[in-house]
Amino acid sequence: MTVRVRIAPSPTGDPHVGTAYIALFNYVFAKHHGGQFILRIEDTDRTRSTPQSEAAIMRALRWVGLSWDEGPDVGGPHGPYRQSERADIYRREVAKLVASGAAYRCFCTAERLDRLRAEQKGKSGFMGYDGHCRGLDQATSDARAAAGEPFVVRLAMPKTGQTTVVDRLRGEVHFENTQIDDQILMKTDGFPTYHLANVVDDHLMGITHVIRAEEWLTSTPKHVVLYSAFGWTAPEWIHMPLLRNADKSKISKRKNPVSLDYYRTAGFLPEALLNYLGTMGWSIAGDREKFTLQEMIEAFTFDRISLGGPVFDLVKLSAVNADYLRALDDDGIVARLRDWRLSDEFLRSLVPLVRKRIQRLDEFVPMTEFFFSGDVDHAPWLKELVPANRTAKDVSECLLGLIEALDVQRDFSPPALEAMARGFAEKSAWDAKELFMVMRLAATARKATPPLFETLSVLGRDMTRRRLRLCAEFLKKAKP
Ligand code: GLU
Repeated sequence: MTVRVRIAPSPTGDPHVGTAYIALFNYVFAKHHGGQFILRIEDTDRTRSTPQSEAAIMRALRWVGLSWDEGPDVGGPHGPYRQSERADIYRREVAKLVASGAAYRCFCTAERLDRLRAEQKGKSGFMGYDGHCRGLDQATSDARAAAGEPFVVRLAMPKTGQTTVVDRLRGEVHFENTQIDDQILMKTDGFPTYHLANVVDDHLMGITHVIRAEEWLTSTPKHVVLYSAFGWTAPEWIHMPLLRNADKSKISKRKNPVSLDYYRTAGFLPEALLNYLGTMGWSIAGDREKFTLQEMIEAFTFDRISLGGPVFDLVKLSAVNADYLRALDDDGIVARLRDWRLSDEFLRSLVPLVRKRIQRLDEFVPMTEFFFSGDVDHAPWLKELVPANRTAKDVSECLLGLIEALDVQRDFSPPALEAMARGFAEKSAWDAKELFMVMRLAATARKATPPLFETLSVLGRDMTRRRLRLCAEFLKKAKP
């Protein structure tokens, strides 16, 4: 058997460090066994998926040093590798389940489902669909569908017994069937949900091992039931421990930067990041922590995975990075600097920001230095950060609100950012001028900078978010 594994990101946001972590373990497992690693884009959520996010995920995975044998950009024999291009396949496959009775059409209206949810709320016992349409006979169901009545397709979960997931790392995990909802497989618009598309694709793409984060473990019994409903052999399941913040909570952007773009901008070396991710829940031998991708491939086995939530720690990662950086010779470091912020491309993006003010070349570095530093120090600016009639706490909360607004701001061009900030000022009853000064100080730790929105646009979402958060934390602790 040739090992075939995949990473299946949903392109709904920034490239996540957890995606690189899971991709890495898929990759090394495949390569250890001479198998294939596939990239599949799970863009069934039509409202949240964007081509920009897809491109960013691919760029970031390549940046850390991973490449795939099949995928939307490189092609392959099992394409298309983007779920939005496979709608006909899911419709064809789900029809088989409806015909066999393993799935059924559900015509319940949104109002009925709302009522049901309201009735179940606060009561103990099963929460979920009550099976109202499950008993419809096939002829009635066909006739209602033919008459154009909207419906979803649901999985007819067994109502008794248990479903067992055999996980390579955990052994048998049992789930009570009565606790599992009749999962929607296809929505009223004819698009599949994650569960259907994921199982159909894993099967049709010949995936032999599903290596994914443990947050998916509770979905797996539904997948096990789906495989058997289709009459297909299920892949082997391996649910990797989740990356954790220092306080052991699931890694989140509230506590740690999670975007791979942040790590690139902040000057981490991709091979150091990859090495560090390799130590998350896995060890090569004893307490050895430094190894190359090739060494990890050669030594890889799931036996050395430990399930006690690995902590993704920026301080530790920086120490690993230092090791890699210092091992480079001088020319090597210069080359990395050029790949990073001293590239022609990046310098060119700064020139328009300073062109109007610059008189001599020697002013360029002082005018732009905050583009080249990661974290900045807000301490000297406490007075300026807090406008009259505001408290440090107000400003801190305002910055947290801005971070949320920036998170959903897909268009990071200067005019779009300005419109967002003006809208935010109006909504939160801030004077726009005051707000802009707070933003400038928080993002750059300087009072005079090139135009604010041009500056933020070049600084990018991740670095802007990081600095705004640091500033919010600083203000929260500051004496009023
Ligand atoms: N699309 C899912 C995700 O975003 C894939 C989960 C899986 O690997 O099955 O992580």
